[in-house]
Amino acid sequence: KAQAAVKIAKASGKVEIYRNGVLKEAQRRFTLESKLREALAHGGLTLAFQPLIHLQTGEITGFEALARWHDPELGHVSPVEFIAVAEESGLIAPLGRWATYEATQALSRWDAKFGEPLPVGVNVNLSPIHMARDDVASMFEEALRYSGIAGNRLTAEITESAIVADPDKARKLLVALKDLQMSVAMDDFGTGYSNLASLHSLPIDILKIDRSFVFSMLEDRDKTVIVRTILSLAESLGLHVTAEGIETQELALELQRMGCWQGQGYYFAKPMNEMDAFDYWRARWNFETV
Ligand code: C2E
Ligand code: MG
Ligand code: MG
Ligand code: MG
Repeated sequence: KAQAAVKIAKASGKVEIYRNGVLKEAQRRFTLESKLREALAHGGLTLAFQPLIHLQTGEITGFEALARWHDPELGHVSPVEFIAVAEESGLIAPLGRWATYEATQALSRWDAKFGEPLPVGVNVNLSPIHMARDDVASMFEEALRYSGIAGNRLTAEITESAIVADPDKARKLLVALKDLQMSVAMDDFGTGYSNLASLHSLPIDILKIDRSFVFSMLEDRDKTVIVRTILSLAESLGLHVTAEGIETQELALELQRMGCWQGQGYYFAKPMNEMDAFDYWRARWNFETV
């Protein structure tokens, strides 16, 4: 495919720069796909866990599970890049299945270490491409059964585009997740094309305000207005709100003052490995962190 593109570019007399660009991009894409396939098959991916903080009490309510990939040759590859590759190459369903099993098993390993279930849950990201498949509810059910974790400790983070793509299918899935006692969060809220009617009629529990609105909120009045609007919309719809990308104490305190339920961001903690996440929780679980 890359070579064909190069041939066409040559034949049409396109400049060398274009040829190099296309070829390089296609090579990187090809390398990433085959290495990602390997990594998935042989345990090359890990999960990082970022704390979710109850802004009114300071308690750690859970962690968002975020996929990490370190390749011996490529080094650290950003999830933004490899999730896109996975979505284009049929690898996103196996990746999502791996993340779901790994996240629920991390919970069960923490429980075993602590001697009883931790009062925290884990959020797993679900790609809209993966969500279009028919086996998503059974995947969650099996992961919960396999790990022995109660469904109310698991939250699926979905995106607005998944609902726009196929509202009926999304509804069936979300209802099935509620039957498993799971929670559903709308990720990156505010960046997509949400239909307010579907927000109201679908069993969604949480809106996660995208960090593009949060990080500059104190300097940019428009952003403050957006955050305030999302908070009052959520209140009328009976939804919880999580603010992501909280990098300073000022932001944490302002969001707390505005009545935002939960926060996540570098101010509290960066995503960390499974052991460090457990230690972070154990050191703070009976203290306030805001
Ligand atoms: P997301 O689901 O919106 O995750 C939040 C992202 O914001 C994470 O980036 C996290 O590290 C970052 N973040 C958290 N707090 C802060 C902060 O205070 N400042 C800044 N600048 N960033 C912060 P990450 O880990 O690079 O992941 C990027 C995206 O990749 C995620 O966005 C999610 O859409 C996707 N992703 C990651 N893991 C998975 C996965 O297992 N499955 C799927 N389908 N997508 C995933
Ligand atoms: Mg997320
Ligand atoms: Mg997010
Ligand atoms: Mg985001």
